[in-house]
Amino acid sequence: MKTKLLLIYTGGTIGMAKDYETQSLKPFDFENLLKHIPELSLIDSEIQFTGFEIPIDSSDMNPDHWVELAKIIQKNYEFFDGFVVLHGTDTMAYSASALSFMLSGLQKPVIFTGSQLPVGDLRTDAKENLITSIHFASLQENGKPSIKEVCIYFEYKLLRANRTTKINAENFDAFASPNYPDLGESGIRLDVRSHVLRTEDPSIPFTIHTDLNTDLGLMKIFPGMSRAFIESMFRTDEMKVMIIEAFGSGNIFSFGWFKELLRKKSAEGLLFIINTQCAGGMVEIGRYETSEIFQEIGAINGFDLTTEASIAKTIYLLGQNLNSAEFKKLYEMDLRGELTYLKEY
Ligand code: ASP
Repeated sequence: MKTKLLLIYTGGTIGMAKDYETQSLKPFDFENLLKHIPELSLIDSEIQFTGFEIPIDSSDMNPDHWVELAKIIQKNYEFFDGFVVLHGTDTMAYSASALSFMLSGLQKPVIFTGSQLPVGDLRTDAKENLITSIHFASLQENGKPSIKEVCIYFEYKLLRANRTTKINAENFDAFASPNYPDLGESGIRLDVRSHVLRTEDPSIPFTIHTDLNTDLGLMKIFPGMSRAFIESMFRTDEMKVMIIEAFGSGNIFSFGWFKELLRKKSAEGLLFIINTQCAGGMVEIGRYETSEIFQEIGAINGFDLTTEASIAKTIYLLGQNLNSAEFKKLYEMDLRGELTYLKEY
């Protein structure tokens, strides 16, 4: 029996066309995309199409769009064997990470893809990305989907969504998963690395979580960062979580005024999550004296989370109305394959 897949078009370069007045690329309707990929009719799966009414550049994506996507998947979940989401590359890792948290009990593939050049361009990467994503999404074993998680497929690599980050604004090879092995590769054959795929307990029903909360801040530190600027970032009452992208294994400057600020904000109930600015490796709070302040205020360890997954996980967990202790406990747990524990932690 043919597999049934749903293709969800949200916008992005893949379907864009040039506005000849301004010379800039603008999202275009779905018909334009299909016109340029007649090969879709040769694929041995039954494909249906849906998408956002108005396709967008993914720079305009926000959590409301993530909810819309989750609802489309929920509405169609039982009728399809897998889902392919066409999305702009700029924020693909954010949306795909968010969906990985918002969909629980997932037993089917949700594969995000897009392209660096529009589908109408002679040298486009859109066709390969789309067609191979469809192939990965249609893989089955004993009549069940082989992949049961949210992924990104791009330039021959199948990656776990919440481990992925956009690393290049120009190359076709635009995404990487620095702290987790690639899930698959496309060569002469499609190679799926079954031993690194996620397995979800089949007794957990498929559910979507659409309560999200964006009361968070992100602070990337740098040498010479001014006190005035740092203090200005903490002036809002709306913030419940501040993610700090610290140096190396989670280190930060040790000015007395800065430590006082962290102590004060923490006592007021603000939660701190510590990530590393490094692309690879993980946070180890307390390894150096310069991270002891994080231990003192009970900061949350972000281990090896990508920025994208860290933000998405925060927005998802803030939506669950947890108290601080529950939030910290769940944040430091591996919920969807997004983080690796430090062994002795
Ligand atoms: N700005 C585009 C977007 O993210 C870039 C792309 O799709 O590659 O929608």
